[in-house]
Amino acid sequence: MKFNSIKFKVGNLFTIILGIILILYSVFLQVSLSKYLINDLDEELSGKVNELSSIISDELAASTGDDVYTVIQRIFSFQYPPKSSIVAVKKKKTVGESLSDEEKWFVRFDRLDLSQDMVAFFEVDGKLIYPSQNILADFLKKFTPKIGESLEEDVFKDATINKKHFRQIQSMISLPNGRQLYVLIAASEKPILDLLRHRQRLFMVSIPIILLLTAFLGRFLAVRILRPVNSIVVAARQISSRDLTKRLSDKDADEEMKVLIDSFNDMIARLERSFRHIEQFSSHVAHELKTPLAILRGETEVALRTDYTTSEYKTVLKENMEEIEQIIKVVEDLLLLAKLDYKPKFIKFEKFDFKEFFNAIVDKTKLIAEEKNINVSCLLPKEDIALEGDPLHLRRLFFNIIHNAIKFTPSGKNISLKAVKEDGLLKVSIADEGVGIPPEHLPFIFDRFFQVPGRDEDPQKGTGLGLSIAQSVAKAHQGKIEAQSQLNKGSTFTVALPLA
Ligand code: ADP
Repeated sequence: MKFNSIKFKVGNLFTIILGIILILYSVFLQVSLSKYLINDLDEELSGKVNELSSIISDELAASTGDDVYTVIQRIFSFQYPPKSSIVAVKKKKTVGESLSDEEKWFVRFDRLDLSQDMVAFFEVDGKLIYPSQNILADFLKKFTPKIGESLEEDVFKDATINKKHFRQIQSMISLPNGRQLYVLIAASEKPILDLLRHRQRLFMVSIPIILLLTAFLGRFLAVRILRPVNSIVVAARQISSRDLTKRLSDKDADEEMKVLIDSFNDMIARLERSFRHIEQFSSHVAHELKTPLAILRGETEVALRTDYTTSEYKTVLKENMEEIEQIIKVVEDLLLLAKLDYKPKFIKFEKFDFKEFFNAIVDKTKLIAEEKNINVSCLLPKEDIALEGDPLHLRRLFFNIIHNAIKFTPSGKNISLKAVKEDGLLKVSIADEGVGIPPEHLPFIFDRFFQVPGRDEDPQKGTGLGLSIAQSVAKAHQGKIEAQSQLNKGSTFTVALPLA
């Protein structure tokens, strides 16, 4: 069994913890009960001392002339009245007959109930006056009071004599004639110990039974709770990178398991999307590189088979060079995209003046557009615009969009550039009067390698990565690009970037 498994925790660990708690609780119960019972016994012993003191005082007052020894002797001669006498007294009491003096003592002693206790009286100088009949010799040896010591308060002690446990009170009683006596009463602790032992046995039997039941129930519950997890595991094992279409069913699942299954399914869906994306991307990359490589190979093969003149070889090499440059461009663009998306530190942020930065772009745009006889206008706000970003990559962003605008706009038409500040953002729009983008293709123009189909005859054929790079640069700056277009009327790309 694994120690960090739920089955172990619910089944065994919980039982161990419960066991410790139960043991501590039973010890606490035993200690508190024993304290309570001993306290009770102490109070009973105190009561007995007081009652004994008042009986002796009463008897001394009643029998003039008798000394205290005789009185105590006499009192204790009543201590164990024969059973028949007690029965007779009880009968008299129920009938309502008056009791003799002796019988009255029977009643008082019966109530005092010293029959099970050991009693001894001592003078203050330590001389033993009277020991009860049942007193043990060892008891007297152990508890003879210290001579001349006056007791302010009752003293309670535990004593073990002949393996028997006693609780004893040591007290000083004052008699009417001003004399003081020590009195010791020792009561057996057997009833208390018996009760505690009985409860201890009860705990020793019941705790293991409770623990066994808990362990059994814990394991049973753990198995039940983990059943849905097992079915998730089985289903999850069937899902591989080849088949990410499978989903786990949350039918009949518990509420918490539903959350787990939902997040698991969400994760699979995300993985499926990513895998599909990677698949498409890889096939695009392969396709994009395959064409120029095939051309390269074809031209090189022909050149090797044919005896060309130097100038003919040069022409072949020039054409090959163009294909190689196309390949390098694709590879560089892909590398740039990977860095933009997965290496945030690749962007070097700095604060710069946007108007100065954009005017340089506009100047260059005008130069290029002039060649195609396209008119470029620019409208910037009067106030300064501060941006925080990487000017190098932002230049790439704008040129990618602007190059497209020039590429897809016929001669004699216009391109207008405009920047406005809006809601803490700088919005730069690049609007052309070009061929536009068919609405069904518009949602995909930022996808990697996407090119509007049917434009292969374009002499400045691109790679389909320009807008992806622009969008990645915008995202790396916490911005975005949106496109609107009308077929044969023109397109407008709006770049939104947060202001510094
Ligand atoms: P490319 O290198 O092919 O230009 P882009 O990612 O820059 O790749 O653009 C993707 C496609 O979006 C282009 O092939 C083109 O069909 C379309 N497109 C982009 N900008 C414009 C525009 N201003 N007017 C018309 N079509 C555009």
